[in-house]
Amino acid sequence: MKMFFKALFCCLIMFSSCYVFSSAASNFYSPATKFNADIISPENFLGHQLGEQMVRNDQLVAYFKMLSEQSERVSFEVIGYSHERRPIITLTISSPANLKKLPEIQQKHMLLQQGNALNTSNMPVISWINFGVHGSEVSSTDSAIPIAYHLAAAQGKEIEKLLENSVILLTASMNPDGNSREASWNLRYQSEVAISDPAHALHGSPWPSGRTNHYWFDLNRQWMLQQHPEPVSWVKKFHDWRPNIVADFHEMRSYKSFYFHPGAPDRVHPLINKQAMGLLSDVVEQPRAYLDSAATLFFNEEAYDNFYLGKGATYPHLYGSLGILFEQASSAGVLETPRGLLSFRENIKTYYHVGLALLNNAVDKKQALLNYQYQFSKETKETAKNDSVKGYVFSAPEDPAKIFHFLQLLSRNKIDVKPLTKDMTVNGKSFSANQAYVVESAQASYPMLKGLFSKVTRFENNTFYDVSGWTMPLAFGIEYEELKQSNYQVGEVLAVTFPHQPSPSEAQVAYAFEWSNYYAPKLMYQLLQEGFRPRVANNGFQAETDQGQKTFMRGTVVVPVSNQDKSKLHSLMSQAAEQDAIASYALQSSHTQSIGMDLGSNNIEAIEQPHVLLVIGPSISQYQAGEVWHLLDKRMNIPSVLVTKSQLEKLDLNNYSHIVLVDGQHANINKKTTDKLLTWTRSGGTFIGIADGAKWASKELLDLVTVEISPGIENQRERINYGQKSHLEAQDIIGGAVMLGDLDITHPLGYGYVRREVASHRSGLLAFEMSKNPYASIVQIAQKPLLTGFASVENQQQLAGKTSLVAQRLGKGSVILFADDPNFRGYFYGTEKLFLNSLFFSKLFVSPR
Ligand SMILES: [Zn+2]
Repeated sequence: MKMFFKALFCCLIMFSSCYVFSSAASNFYSPATKFNADIISPENFLGHQLGEQMVRNDQLVAYFKMLSEQSERVSFEVIGYSHERRPIITLTISSPANLKKLPEIQQKHMLLQQGNALNTSNMPVISWINFGVHGSEVSSTDSAIPIAYHLAAAQGKEIEKLLENSVILLTASMNPDGNSREASWNLRYQSEVAISDPAHALHGSPWPSGRTNHYWFDLNRQWMLQQHPEPVSWVKKFHDWRPNIVADFHEMRSYKSFYFHPGAPDRVHPLINKQAMGLLSDVVEQPRAYLDSAATLFFNEEAYDNFYLGKGATYPHLYGSLGILFEQASSAGVLETPRGLLSFRENIKTYYHVGLALLNNAVDKKQALLNYQYQFSKETKETAKNDSVKGYVFSAPEDPAKIFHFLQLLSRNKIDVKPLTKDMTVNGKSFSANQAYVVESAQASYPMLKGLFSKVTRFENNTFYDVSGWTMPLAFGIEYEELKQSNYQVGEVLAVTFPHQPSPSEAQVAYAFEWSNYYAPKLMYQLLQEGFRPRVANNGFQAETDQGQKTFMRGTVVVPVSNQDKSKLHSLMSQAAEQDAIASYALQSSHTQSIGMDLGSNNIEAIEQPHVLLVIGPSISQYQAGEVWHLLDKRMNIPSVLVTKSQLEKLDLNNYSHIVLVDGQHANINKKTTDKLLTWTRSGGTFIGIADGAKWASKELLDLVTVEISPGIENQRERINYGQKSHLEAQDIIGGAVMLGDLDITHPLGYGYVRREVASHRSGLLAFEMSKNPYASIVQIAQKPLLTGFASVENQQQLAGKTSLVAQRLGKGSVILFADDPNFRGYFYGTEKLFLNSLFFSKLFVSPR
């Protein structure tokens, strides 16, 4: 292959520590811009030109800190820390006079934002520019540096007008761990002579890509979910200010051009205010003009949308802020593309100018933007009042920790919740006082609460950039109903606190706790790790406890005290009550009130400690692998050994009890490894497959019939106009919808569930035919499966009655296959337990005789 060697910078400067770069000479800043010479430029701070190499996160943080020390216009704040303990920085930038009265400005802005009529003529516009939510999109993070420098150091009328009339929040990097992973790769393959050949290592992203955070989550899907510290920190900042505009800078594939919002007009979520897109189009006038002046081709109103509400450019719209997405073609250094030579430096320069043009434009449209927020708030109150749905009632008394996480998610999205104070029945479902909660429609965050609670199954356009359905009570597996009348009684708005449980009394014979508790698997693992001998009840039973007589569900964990360190066990149970909301009960006798279920019964079986191997690496879905890793490590304190496919061939698998293979391309698993996995399973291992990992195992290990439903179009025998192709093909995709299934809660894999209905996240058309083993179909897809999101009627019909979770014994081992993703994006608390059950209960069932 022909190699391209091109010199990147016409004058590659060999610098020494005493060399002082001239900004003007760098052909980066506008020659007309004068800078305060007392403020150190990025070039002089870093010792190289922007774009010459990627800036490390520690350098970015240090430069921002220094700017705040050198400039009266800049204030520096650490708003949170990433998983790897890197600080996430927000700079607040305005005129020195504005910064001095910042709390007053903020308070007034929030009053306006809440619908109070104010004289806005002397109020600044609040503009938030954020960078690097995808850490591998290199020009995003690095362009934050010259923008911050410009705002701190530029001189003259234009900058004074900008700073006097706006408060600018600048957050970089939103995802410092991903960005640092990318920088480490980038710097490793950097060369003196820039290499534009796309085959060069620098231009390929390693696994896991820097797009994601430490646990390989896409943080730009986490704005409303907030299951990681990074989004928790920036979404809090958003709510502290409710900026008028929120700009999100990204990169896209290198063969593309440049994109900015507004997106495809028929792919806007119905909850997004229609006026917003018109105003947004006005606010990008100056960026548009800059791009034209630089002869940069761009597009908008296609490809990207405002449907999934959890993205950075969409979420703000639910609160009256204008989210604006920018995307430009990616280049890590210099890169040959069909559109010509792309360069990292030029990309930084483009975003520098576009960012400043946007900020200036926001000042010019200040009155319209402030007025929009005021009107938005007033209209929202009106719409909320007129909604025929007065609110939602929900409860999950069997799982206080899960309810806490749900309430916390609502609270982080500024949704008020009140406790139900009088029992009520809605559509035949009972909700008990002090165990159920109500979210009322009539509140300021009405659009977001509708976005979280309502189901949407009809769409103007069936093409989705991201998932089409995410209804939160379904994802959390929480019983809920719409309230069509205001006939409910509630208390004051709840302050969300963790539901600590009281310690149990010291047990004479055993402790018992229900498996329905979210953190029960964490406690189970800890007990096993500490050498205790927890057992699980295969039937429900009634027993006398320290808290009176209690009925225990199937799946209850019984921890005998005999031959154990009693005081250590008691302190573990007390700690779990305090830290993980697990109520446990002290049993003083082996005798129970249930026939055949005394505590010494064989129906209460021993559990073995799982030793989990998670397959990771190239050709594995980093998202799904990350979800498993995060759930086990961060939430459940269960170790998982991360091993690549290529290691499997040589590794001694006998050290592991469970192997997890998630979605990915698995045709590359060779015969030798397949045979080894088969032997390992037959001799007692549990193989867990998810999505394509399940498909692979169903064929290679179980010889099970998988149904990958053929898209309707493949059965089409009529002639169709080519122009309809993309529309028709979109019909065949299930890109992320929530489906109803019937869970066998009498099967060990269904332990901990109190209802048979289970909502799971489906993307794609994989399912299993009913197998010869009538007990193997753990979740059967409902006859009318679609709960929320898009799936064509044909696809729904084809999926109906098929199996989405299969469990079979194979020799001494087990194979457990998930067609749906039980751990999706860390917020499907409702199906995570199915996955965790596959670790602890995979040997509790037997094949039919
Ligand atoms: Zn991106």
